[in-house]
Parts: sequence; structure tokens; C-alpha cells
Amino acid sequence: MKRTLITGAAGFLGSHLVKKFLNAGHHVIGMDNLITGNLKNIEEFFPNKNFEFHNHDVSKFVHVAGELDYILHFASPASPIDYLKIPIQTLKVSSYGAHNLLGLAKAKNARIIVASTSEVYGDPLVHPQVEDYYGNVNPVGPRGVYDEAKRYMEAVTMAYNTYHGVETRIVRIFNTYGPKMRLNDGRVLPAFIGQALRGEDLTIFGDGSQTRSFCYVDDLVDGIHKLLLSDHSEPVNIGNPSEITITQFAEEIIKLTGTDQKVCYHELPVNDPKQRKPDISKAKSILGWEPKVARKEGLEITYDYFKSLTKEELNKKEHNNFDKYITK
Ligand code: UDP
Repeated sequence: MKRTLITGAAGFLGSHLVKKFLNAGHHVIGMDNLITGNLKNIEEFFPNKNFEFHNHDVSKFVHVAGELDYILHFASPASPIDYLKIPIQTLKVSSYGAHNLLGLAKAKNARIIVASTSEVYGDPLVHPQVEDYYGNVNPVGPRGVYDEAKRYMEAVTMAYNTYHGVETRIVRIFNTYGPKMRLNDGRVLPAFIGQALRGEDLTIFGDGSQTRSFCYVDDLVDGIHKLLLSDHSEPVNIGNPSEITITQFAEEIIKLTGTDQKVCYHELPVNDPKQRKPDISKAKSILGWEPKVARKEGLEITYDYFKSLTKEELNKKEHNNFDKYITK
């Protein structure tokens, strides 16, 4: 039986990956320090004897007993609001954390995949974004703590590959959505659906002409699995190239939820990328992967999840454990 460590296991993507690898017959060791993760996301796996959970901060030395075949490093805050509140932790998890996990991969002779991001392209001047575009990142802007940590993570990962011969994979993840997203993480989809469910106007930042391309989580997880099993160590974009403006997205959410609410406009956050769309030619040719779930279908499943939350959860202002960490 393969033994697989997944960091960020209690987060949105992590929890879906835990399910994918348990279903593939692996013994899964989930790790999370629960700053932004939520045990509720992985509650269903606790009765499974092939699942174990460790509450640990991977930016500190990581110990795992026994053998490991695969490591998936998916721990990191992942929304602009999180970076503002916990910038140092955001930097540490993709620098010290990635370094610790690469060291663990080397010690265990395990293959490791690290979760990079479309944010390595910054506010991109090349559209759609291809893997060999180096990006347009402001290192000292509010997103710098995330973008530069992820760029460092890619560099240290390649160094472990070339210098130590560790089997590494780098996935560049574009905007992804689905059940188990954190309601109050500030990302556009939970923000809009939460607002519709609470009877509030939908908050568009800027004039709403900026674009994003949203990938349903099952497609993403499938792409990650295929990349892990491939022999490709260069970065690969995984995302859905279907691009829309944020205004169009708000209209889709209004239609989906049937809300009577309108949209209202707020200031555009600093360095908010104007456009984003993955070029997935590489994933198609190397992995034979492309997304299958249309946005209409994915949004309906996601809306059902948010509707299943209790009133208390829906009205909770925070859904995280920042307070414990903010002073560090
Ligand atoms: N956005 C918005 N209203 C919100 C939250 C986000 O208009 O309530 C915009 C945000 O400015 C950005 C886009 O939606 O242009 C996607 O934001 P998100 O934080 O989900 O992801 P990212 O900017 O990292 O792609």
C-alpha cells in the first residue's frame, strides 16, 4: 500500500486530495496546523483506518514515522485577505515549509509535488499564461508574500531535483472552486454566494472588467494526480481556460441563486491582476488532461454545499484561527 503525506489536508484543496488518494487505495497522512484549515472538511475520513491526522506546522521540522511514497505540499493560506492578516506565516509555509518537505522527500526517497500558483505570473502581460512566461510580480505589494514565497518554492524544488535528484513535480494552480471552500476567506465565489444567501448585495471590486478562469475542484484534483504520476518535473498549469469577467460572474451567481440583490462596487485591491487564463496545452499534451466540468454544473454543486451550511456558519464573520498566530 502506498503511503502519502498531504500537507494542508484540512483545507479546501487538501481535503479533496485526501479523498482522492484514499479512494486510490493509499494510506494517507494528513497534516495541517488549522490556521485556515477546518477539521470539519476531513471529519468524514477519521473512521477510515487508512487515514491519520497530525496537527503540525510544516514550517517547523517535519517528522513522519515509516516509509513515504508521495508528498503533496498543499499547505498555505490562499486568499488575498489571508496574506494581509498572516503575511509571515504565508511566507514561511512555502519557504521553510517547502524546504522541510523537500528534505523529508529526500530522506524517504519519496516523490513530491508542490502546489504553486498562477500568482507566479503576477499581473500578467502575456495572455493566456504559458508556463515559460516569467511573470510580472510586485515583490513588496500585498500579494508579494504569497507570490514570492511560491516563486521561491519553485526554485528550491528545482534545486532539490537537479542537485539532490529528488523526484519533484510543480503544479501551477489557477482559480479553483467547489464544496468545502472557506466561506469567509474573501475569495470571490464564496463571497458572492455567501452574500446572496444572506440577502446582501454582491461586492464587485473595481469596475468588474477584470477576468478570471474558474476550474471545478474535481478536475483540478484529477490533473494533480496525473501530474504526480507523470515524469515531468517542469511546472505545469492546471486550470480551466473558460474566462469570464467578474461582472459576468456576478450575473451568473445572481441567476444561480435567484437572489433579488444587486451588485455594489468597492475599490479594486492593490495589484489585483487584470486578466487571468491558463494556457493548458502542456497539460493536454503531457498528461492527456483537460477539465470536464462546465461552470454551470460546478456552480450548482458548489451552491448546494453552501446552502447546506447552518445559519450560524453562514453568519460567522471569521472561519479561521488567525488570532493564535497573528502576534508571532
Ligand atoms: N472580487 C470581487 N468581489 C469580492 C471578492 C473578490 O470583485 O467580494 C474580485 C477580486 O478583486 C479579483 C477576483 O474577484 O479581481 C478574484 O478574486 P479572488 O480573491 O477570488 O482570487 P484572485 O484575485 O486571487 O484570483
